[in-house]
Amino acid sequence: MRRRGDHVKRALLIVIDGAADRALKTLNGKTPLEVAYKPNIDQLATNGVTGIMDPIAPGVSVGSDTAHLALLGYDPFKTYTGRGAFEALGAGIKLQPGEVAFRTNFATVDEEMRVIDRRAGRYIEEAKEFEKLINSISLKTSNVKVLFRHTVEHRGVLILRGEGLSRFVSDTDPHKIGMRVLESKPLIDSPEAKRTANIVNEFTREVYKLLKDHPLNKSRVKRGLPPANILLVRGAGVLPNVKPLSERFKVKCACIAGIALVKGVAKAVGMDIIDVPGATGGLDTDVLAKVKYAIKALEDYDFVFIHYKGTDAASHDGNVWAKVKIIEKIDSAIGYLIDRVNLDETYIIITADHATLTEETRNHSGDFVPILIHGPGVIPDDVRVFCERACLKGGLGRIRGLDLMNIIMNYLDKVEKFGE
Ligand code: ZN
Ligand code: ZN
Repeated sequence: MRRRGDHVKRALLIVIDGAADRALKTLNGKTPLEVAYKPNIDQLATNGVTGIMDPIAPGVSVGSDTAHLALLGYDPFKTYTGRGAFEALGAGIKLQPGEVAFRTNFATVDEEMRVIDRRAGRYIEEAKEFEKLINSISLKTSNVKVLFRHTVEHRGVLILRGEGLSRFVSDTDPHKIGMRVLESKPLIDSPEAKRTANIVNEFTREVYKLLKDHPLNKSRVKRGLPPANILLVRGAGVLPNVKPLSERFKVKCACIAGIALVKGVAKAVGMDIIDVPGATGGLDTDVLAKVKYAIKALEDYDFVFIHYKGTDAASHDGNVWAKVKIIEKIDSAIGYLIDRVNLDETYIIITADHATLTEETRNHSGDFVPILIHGPGVIPDDVRVFCERACLKGGLGRIRGLDLMNIIMNYLDKVEKFGE
């Protein structure tokens, strides 16, 4: 409980996806965070405490879903129940316990079900029509209902709604061009998993039957576009069974993110989602819009989380300078922020959910990430730059992602005493 006369303390967590990196040749042995001109973030580093963080554990490479679970205070080894569930929640679907959700791709296959294009050209203007058709499918071998929702480009979500389902089934997506669509298989020896795999396979055949000769696809072919004649499914998941953040720490919390996956994780742990027009999650995302909404949200919420995706996208593209540039753009938005929030009452925490290696693998890695905390009562260290190298000397030392929420809630005086 807040005592009379106390300040109303708030916290704003800013996660810059995949911002951390290694010493890059293109940057003469420096990292994008080291090279980027970011006076505002560095000012927060100068006046705050910094450190390094292993999102899960040293050397453990993570997806954005498991990393965000950890950063939001949930042990992913205990709570992670597959990516599909987060995609569904992030797409605004009310997933119920027991339902199984998958991520899907519209794709192009030949007559032998060999994948020619995993994205069916990426942009599918007929997607809404196909969505209607797919939702008309009623399975012959079970009374499980299928619910398909197209999201963006070639992507979508499939929900299986009914009794006796399991998330332990394999993908039909072969993840490679030239390979045949895979049969979904049970991953554990259970009747539910076998049944679910059969349903996925029947569904896949039905989708192909519906779409292969559809006039809209014939018209696509005439226009030189690959037909969207199959749905590949992957990442089966169910709703994680977790106690919401609001109950654990008695805080009101909100998430501002562009991508469905992160919104879904936030929703799964009970955060409110604030949708921001222009927040696309890509390199063109409106960085300032998120900050403006966050400033407003801090009037109502104890804990606000902003997610920026562009840095990770630049790394997956292998584009070092795009990564540097997006960090600089985010810095200018943070400049706008620190001019407008009361820094005597607001904690600002900046970190990344994992490193993404722009030059080597162009993928996530198990490297550590830098972190900074700025706010009332924080004892500053001598670090003046927010980057991997400088933060090695920071006052927080080396923490795990799972420690972060406790550290933030401790500053907000929301952590209950352990023992007497
Ligand atoms: Zn990520
Ligand atoms: Zn990524």
